[in-house]
Amino acid sequence: VIKINISILGSTGSIGTQALEVVDDLKGIKDITVKAISGNRNIKLLEEQARKYKPLIVGVSDESGAKELKTKLADTDIKVVCGEEGLIEVATEKDTEMVLSSIVGFAGLVPTMKAIEAKKDIALANKETLVTAGQLFMDKIKENNVRLLPVDSEHCAIFQCLEGNRDRKLRKILLTASGGPFFGRKRNELLDIKKEDALKHPNWSMGAKITIDSATLMNKGLEILEAKWLFGVDIEDIEVIVHRESIIHSMVEYNDLSVIAQLSLPSMKHPIQFAFTYPKREISPDKRLSFAEIGKLTFFEPDRDTFKCLALAERSGKVGGTMPTAMNAANEIAVAKFLNDEIGFLEIADFVEDVMNSHKVIENPTIEDILRVNEEIRSL
Ligand code: NAD
Ligand code: MG
Repeated sequence: VIKINISILGSTGSIGTQALEVVDDLKGIKDITVKAISGNRNIKLLEEQARKYKPLIVGVSDESGAKELKTKLADTDIKVVCGEEGLIEVATEKDTEMVLSSIVGFAGLVPTMKAIEAKKDIALANKETLVTAGQLFMDKIKENNVRLLPVDSEHCAIFQCLEGNRDRKLRKILLTASGGPFFGRKRNELLDIKKEDALKHPNWSMGAKITIDSATLMNKGLEILEAKWLFGVDIEDIEVIVHRESIIHSMVEYNDLSVIAQLSLPSMKHPIQFAFTYPKREISPDKRLSFAEIGKLTFFEPDRDTFKCLALAERSGKVGGTMPTAMNAANEIAVAKFLNDEIGFLEIADFVEDVMNSHKVIENPTIEDILRVNEEIRSL
């Protein structure tokens, strides 16, 4: 039995909790020791996880939450840390070999970069880090010679489609999109959307931010940028295709027009397990894909006029520099405002567009530039 030590940034989230299920599933096949975990404010769940997995360190975002957890865990030797410094301690725990980066949004950037500097392999769910700081992130991965395994179903699929073909010329990446809960609607049918409607995704159960991103198609826009950096391709060579059933998780088209696809039932446990066990493939306890049950798979062009966020993200990627940083920050703010009933559904894209139109791009940004642009847009 192979043993590996991991740490999880964002263990209380949708990805984090499923990752711990994968740890349970793999017991006896690959023994995964969880060395450190972190969460924002779900103290009850953090305590449960700490007692079950016995990590050395638990990180909590705010001080009062950390205090509360410290009291609860007083009968153990577990160290409770807080704030960004605490997250960095979780990310760099000395015996950890792989860090699962599954915090949502920009908050994941600095701890993930620190994990790379500490020579940890990275299982990356936090797509916003690649969107906001792609070049610096990929440079750091190379510099430190660590592995980067995507934990986004599409990117895990592309990664698998490229296996054994890395030296062959690819022609296109075909990035599949479910289309979200409002597929087929026009702008005038999206005026009165409530957050409750937007939070109902047809195929996936996920955290609130990514669920809204899936409804606006911003998620697919972010994934285009994510694919650009992960696989070193131009934005023009990434084609989005709506595939309602979420069975094909993405495809790669080669120069000879052969298309390789990866298929499985929609479950994030697949990409998580793939990252934890790579380069091996281990038995999964999940349900098998039954083609006869599914019957048919359908495909459509995405509607960029209705779902403007997709076009905006593509534009930010073509402009480059700090434009994707600005686009991402604006989207995080707009989604938070929508979830707070402060703006309407269509205003998310309008807000992102306004911020992009007034953003003064910095070419080849440093990490300081990126942190500053993100801060400036948040304080607007
Ligand atoms: P989630 O909201 O369910 O969980 C987010 C985690 O991050 C939680 O543990 C939370 O406590 C922590 N967190 C949130 N804000 C924080 C902050 N400011 N500082 C420190 N910790 C903070 O989100 P999720 O759905 O698990 O998504 C996590 C990431 O994975 C996102 O970047 C998302 O785009 C990506 N992703 C998710 C899915 C999915 O199915 N859920 C699929 C693909 C990619
Ligand atoms: Mg995805």
